[in-house]
Amino acid sequence: MQLIYGFILAILIAGLAYRAHSLNKSGAIAAMFLGTIIFGIGGWQWAILLLTFFITSTALSRAFKKSKQGLNEKYSKGNERDAGQVFGNGGLGAVFVLVHALYPESNIGWIGFAASLAAVNADTWATELGVLNPTPPQMITDLRKRVEKGTSGGVSLFGTFASLLGSALIAALAAFLTDDWPLFPLITLAGLSGSLFDSLLGATVQAMYFCPTDKKETEKHPLHTCGTETVHIRGWKWLNNDWVNFACGAFGALVAFLLNSNIR
Ligand SMILES: [Zn+2]
Repeated sequence: MQLIYGFILAILIAGLAYRAHSLNKSGAIAAMFLGTIIFGIGGWQWAILLLTFFITSTALSRAFKKSKQGLNEKYSKGNERDAGQVFGNGGLGAVFVLVHALYPESNIGWIGFAASLAAVNADTWATELGVLNPTPPQMITDLRKRVEKGTSGGVSLFGTFASLLGSALIAALAAFLTDDWPLFPLITLAGLSGSLFDSLLGATVQAMYFCPTDKKETEKHPLHTCGTETVHIRGWKWLNNDWVNFACGAFGALVAFLLNSNIR
């Protein structure tokens, strides 16, 4: 029965997001699929966490659309999220809800789910709010080096603070919903770590391209926003932004498991 409610809720949310142009067609189908699994198997607590991530990240990207104009071309995709982005951000969550279904007595599924969401939420908040930083970001691998806003691997004080807040929000909900308050600092720290790991990958091994027409570095491939074919300049070709997001969530979950088994 819960699976049916999950399916209905997922269709409703994905449909609204599609109509609001927050998701394209493939993104809406992917969200429907992930939503059904997470709402249907996990139940309302899991739904609250996932929806908090989804709603706040969508709202933030809309609120700061203006200050990002011209920046969008730097990111590999526009505002409409596709299936790759949906799975990159939430695919791991579906894995952890299955872990929870297999081991309902253990809190391992919930911790992994909350930590991976805290990490991708932290990363999204940092991306959306980081543009408000008054000075250009610094490269995470070399803080003396300033880079253009929107560059993968760039970090700033605003962005990092936003990341901490984004992670803390998910962590607070995860702790509140299970009345397990030690989860609050644990998940907050795990989410922040995941988002810093995301920046580290962006600065080092993420696939980066160059547009010969605009003479600009971009994540876009094969075509830039201007229609020119982009050229690979660094990073592993398979490691696109979707996989980096996935790794961000996975790193967050890993840190949470390590903290959970060593500190608690
Ligand atoms: Zn171009």
